[in-house]
Amino acid sequence: MILVIDGCKPEYLTEETAPNLFRLAEEKGFAKRVQCAMPSVTNVNHACILSGKWPEETMITGNYEYDPATGREGFIEERGYMKAETILERYRKWGGKTALLTVKGKVLGVYGAGADIGISAQTPEAKWLERYEIPSPPAIDSVEATRWVMEAAYRCILKDDPDLVYATTNDYVFHHFAPGAKEARAQIAAVDECIQKIAALNPERQIYITADHGMNRKSVIVNMPRLAARAGLDVYCLPPLKDRYVENHIYQEGGMLYVFLKDKSQAASFEEFARRSPYVEQVLTAQEAAAAYHLPVGQIGDYVLLAGKETAFGEVEGEVLHTESSRTHGSLYEREIPLLAIHPEKTQEHYQYHKDIAAHLIQFR
Ligand SMILES: [Zn+2]
Repeated sequence: MILVIDGCKPEYLTEETAPNLFRLAEEKGFAKRVQCAMPSVTNVNHACILSGKWPEETMITGNYEYDPATGREGFIEERGYMKAETILERYRKWGGKTALLTVKGKVLGVYGAGADIGISAQTPEAKWLERYEIPSPPAIDSVEATRWVMEAAYRCILKDDPDLVYATTNDYVFHHFAPGAKEARAQIAAVDECIQKIAALNPERQIYITADHGMNRKSVIVNMPRLAARAGLDVYCLPPLKDRYVENHIYQEGGMLYVFLKDKSQAASFEEFARRSPYVEQVLTAQEAAAAYHLPVGQIGDYVLLAGKETAFGEVEGEVLHTESSRTHGSLYEREIPLLAIHPEKTQEHYQYHKDIAAHLIQFR
């Protein structure tokens, strides 16, 4: 079983908040911190965790796509985008039974091709609810949604015992509550109780608990296209975490930005402008970003900007918004994530990234 707790920075998942998980990890495996792929957003990282590959092979570089040649843009929510084989597909080829359970419907939409059993809290199929005697799901932006998906995973394992179970939550709670908050602790408690039940069903089961990315408070949100326009630069900016879940980040704000120049002759001026901007921590050409973060160079614009720890790029009304209410991700500061392993395939030094889970499992299957 691989459980991806959406947006779980290490501070949420501790010996205090998840005593059962840490005890199991200590007795039968390990607990450590690893890194996610960049940009630190959901789609990109599910692709890596599911395949054991970097974005340059999965070709998933965000939740949203933009084609500068045609101007076509839209959300990435269905099959066809993921170019690497998933561990679900691999297990199925090998004759294994697979299950994917998710709160966010798009995870099943984009990555569900190899899932024999596919359950989404957003668009649940009646046949699975009936088979596992699961009640109708609660609102997806709730702690209850986490409890629901965990319980569904437990019942699915109890009844059908798939060879591979991939389960994931929603990051709504962590977008709104810091580590230590009652709601954040309740979400982890739900995971802790349920994984303990699952581990008890089969004491030999391999269980990995990780996250797709971390989460941090942001106090400044910057409208880059607007600032660029004032400097006479015509650009299209794509925040890779842009998605339909606006309740999570109402300004689509995130710590990394793909910048497409509408006029390529403005490259030098744009670079100069971005380097001078107090809101930008790193300016990378697409080639530099692709080399540093294993990204496909053709999908990330002409420049990639990285924000500092407290800043995000977003679609705000004016040029800059100061706020107390944003918690989001996307930058290098949300790269660190937890990894708890129970009966892992390899010893802990073999895991530097979340994608190593699948990479090691696939090797033997
Ligand atoms: Zn996420």
